[in-house]
Amino acid sequence: MATVVTEPQTSKIPIKQTKILIDNKWVPSVSGKTFDTINPATGQVLASVAEADAADVDLAVKAARKAFHSKAHWRRMSASERGKLINRLADLIEKNADELATLESLDNGKPKHVAAAADLPLVIACYRYYAGWADKIQGKTIPISGDYFCYTRHEPVGVVGQIIPWNFPLLMQAWKLAPALACGNTVVLKVAEQTPLSALRVGELILEAGFPEGVVNILPGYGPTAGGAIARHMDIDKVAFTGSTEVGHLIMKAAADTNLKRVTLELGGKSPNIVFADADMNEAVEGSHFALFFNQGQCCCAGSRVFVEEKVYDEFVSRSTERAKRRVVGNPLDKKTEQGPQVDKDQFDKVLGYVESGKKEGAKLQCGGERIGEHGYFVAPTVFADVKDDMKIAQEEIFGPVMSILKFKDMDELVDRANKTIYGLAAAVWTRDIGKAHHIANNVRAGTVWVNCFDVFDAAAPFGGFKQSGLGRELGEYGLQQYSEIKTVTVKL
Ligand code: ADP
Repeated sequence: MATVVTEPQTSKIPIKQTKILIDNKWVPSVSGKTFDTINPATGQVLASVAEADAADVDLAVKAARKAFHSKAHWRRMSASERGKLINRLADLIEKNADELATLESLDNGKPKHVAAAADLPLVIACYRYYAGWADKIQGKTIPISGDYFCYTRHEPVGVVGQIIPWNFPLLMQAWKLAPALACGNTVVLKVAEQTPLSALRVGELILEAGFPEGVVNILPGYGPTAGGAIARHMDIDKVAFTGSTEVGHLIMKAAADTNLKRVTLELGGKSPNIVFADADMNEAVEGSHFALFFNQGQCCCAGSRVFVEEKVYDEFVSRSTERAKRRVVGNPLDKKTEQGPQVDKDQFDKVLGYVESGKKEGAKLQCGGERIGEHGYFVAPTVFADVKDDMKIAQEEIFGPVMSILKFKDMDELVDRANKTIYGLAAAVWTRDIGKAHHIANNVRAGTVWVNCFDVFDAAAPFGGFKQSGLGRELGEYGLQQYSEIKTVTVKL
């Protein structure tokens, strides 16, 4: 049984913002409707939040379109001024980091100290990284045939719709807003219905930083309604979506059926995490534990298929089981807590459903597999051994603290098995053999490969998926391409 710390309590932090941000004003929804956001550690309501729908999306798009007009302040502003504004936002987030980490923990369930040490620094670094790019986004001069001067301009795409998930609310907001703003776009951002609070607080900081009216609009609301309205909107030039592969299909279809808006998608994963017998076993066990259980297992890139070489399989299973049993689950506001609750009841039920499926299909439950406590949505860290490639728990994204360990004999079978999935988001390999490491890095079909590490993120390093894990890349210089149109200008001399 995992260690459980004190009962969850609600922090006293005041929730400052629950409305919709349109055109630099905080407004209720057109319908007047609100929805409750809950604290998943207690199941209690944290706040009622304005519920945006198609009518609110329309108003936000109008404001964003006006802000994108060639004569508007945002478009006349120099690129370095844009960079300064984004830097100012980064400074304000840094100044309010403790409050934001608390909000993130209350609304999402992740331990506050993890939000403060892992999420917030990446958020701030992302804004600063793209602030630096704002005045370095430049085209080329091209030596075409004839007496002409030909050059390219990298222009903003226009009004960008962005839809983000609940697993890293502040970080996903930063990954979306920072490059879009650095390139000079205007934004209509829909935040996840499970976790609207931290994004709305950042909305207040956006106003404090001094962004012009209509540049950033933030809408809390549900997927099929507000999210769908963004995907289908005829005056949105691009949609950037992070979430499930299932909804990714819907977004692309909506874009195809309407105005062919540009689409970038960051979707699900079932990432292979490969442990060779020659690996440093301490690091491989701890690294694989982190790869799966970090953020309550709610990571699109979680190392959720752990392939372990036959020779060390039994040792790895027993040590990973021991580690999972020691994982500290409980109050997200307690510094000792490693794992908080799943984000909501739907996710909680889904995860326990996968545990049942694993048991039914014959995987060996090593530990966990049940609820912890009577309040909130805590799931005991769970390890399955003897998992086979075609079991549901080895094929579908569980998005919870459930580790599946598979056995492999040699490299020949391994690469094909690692690639036997619809996904291709990430992979990792643990080995001291540089040849094996590079063979895996070159042959596994995934957007990111970590060697002897996992979840190493940096604003400068691109992230995104092969296959049904997505379309396009976020972060780094590559991320700028998703928010720019290339214009070719040819001048007769
Ligand atoms: P999850 O299952 O992990 O919640 P989703 O893909 O359902 O992932 O959600 C990610 C984001 O997509 C959320 O902001 C959600 O509201 C939104 N969303 C869900 N369904 C739709 C939809 N049909 N159209 C547009 N956005 C959606």
